[in-house]
Amino acid sequence: MTTADHTTERWTSAALADLERMAETIGVASRHLEPLRRHTSFGVGGPCPLMLFPERPEQVVDLAQWAGQRALCCRILGGGTNLLVGDAGVAEPVINTTRMTLETRFERDRAVFAAGLPTARALHKTVAAGLDGLVWAAGLPGTLGGAAAGNAGCWGGDMASCTEYLDVVDGRGQLHRVATADLGWEYRSLAMPRSVISPWFVVAVAVRVQEGDPLALRTSYEELQTRKRDKQPVGARNSGCVFRNPEGRAAGAVLDAAGCKGMRVGGAVVSEQHANFIVNDRGATCEDVEGLIDQLVAAARRTEGIDLQPEVRRW
Ligand SMILES: Cc1cc2nc3c(=O)[nH]c(=O)nc-3n(C[C@H](O)[C@H](O)[C@H](O)COP(=O)(O)OP(=O)(O)OC[C@H]3O[C@@H](n4cnc5c(N)ncnc54)[C@H](O)[C@@H]3O)c2cc1C
Repeated sequence: MTTADHTTERWTSAALADLERMAETIGVASRHLEPLRRHTSFGVGGPCPLMLFPERPEQVVDLAQWAGQRALCCRILGGGTNLLVGDAGVAEPVINTTRMTLETRFERDRAVFAAGLPTARALHKTVAAGLDGLVWAAGLPGTLGGAAAGNAGCWGGDMASCTEYLDVVDGRGQLHRVATADLGWEYRSLAMPRSVISPWFVVAVAVRVQEGDPLALRTSYEELQTRKRDKQPVGARNSGCVFRNPEGRAAGAVLDAAGCKGMRVGGAVVSEQHANFIVNDRGATCEDVEGLIDQLVAAARRTEGIDLQPEVRRW
């Protein structure tokens, strides 16, 4: 969870019931004890006490304001494609953005998308309009809000280099428009300016776009997508690269050299296709995945003298 800047209280069952009632009054659907494994590409993770499905930014404002006034925090979930959730689940309600897909606007040299829109759909929309700006994201799963929150990147591009601004709701329910120059973009991470109180929720993403040749754009994204499918276990249950690339090396090459492909703990196995991917092929638990991660860290340290750092987010 994004750390809160203010003291946080524990969620009680009374507070959860109040939030559920409040959500109903503002038209936000919710589900009790929702297993997070249903919402993560890894297929791993216990329940959250309440999952909320806002459709519009104003609803996120109301939810964050309600929680902030009580010094309570919610988590936020996009496509769940970069998450490893513990078997016991989480104690906080989870705001699921995947129904926040409605708003898309093209304004001269920018395209503005709702945060829950799958990145692939945003890419298709820009290409269909003959606009370049997101082609680097070919094959990137998850939502655009999740991509921004983790500065996702591939094929030489990343969110830092294509974003013009983000609309962000902060932990007090204040809506901010933050220009890219005021955002702390780093390798696979994003920091907000001090005025945005944590936990923060991206509700819209504005991407810079330029006119391009629709056919050439389509050809290049299809080519990149095919290359991704050839290199990574795209159809299998996984959550992308497990480790960040260490200075000057690819984590997958380090693990390959350490003989890690095919290593297994319970239902979790290192992909034969790409050693930086762990695949859930037999009903893995989070404990299995973490056991395997520990073995990979030890193998990289022993054989290559490298300390690998996780890229996947842990809840
Ligand atoms: C097969 C495969 C290939 C992948 N390839 C790549 C790759 O090439 N490059 C790359 O960078 N990643 C890659 N990933 C990882 C992942 O797809 C991306 O990081 C993706 O952008 C995450 O988006 P999401 O919506 O799934 O985020 P989630 O997994 O839902 O969330 C990830 C984190 O972001 C936070 N978050 C999500 N939405 C918001 C929001 N709206 N506001 C604030 N915080 C939010 C969550 O709280 C969580 O901490 C890959 C994953 C898979 C499964």
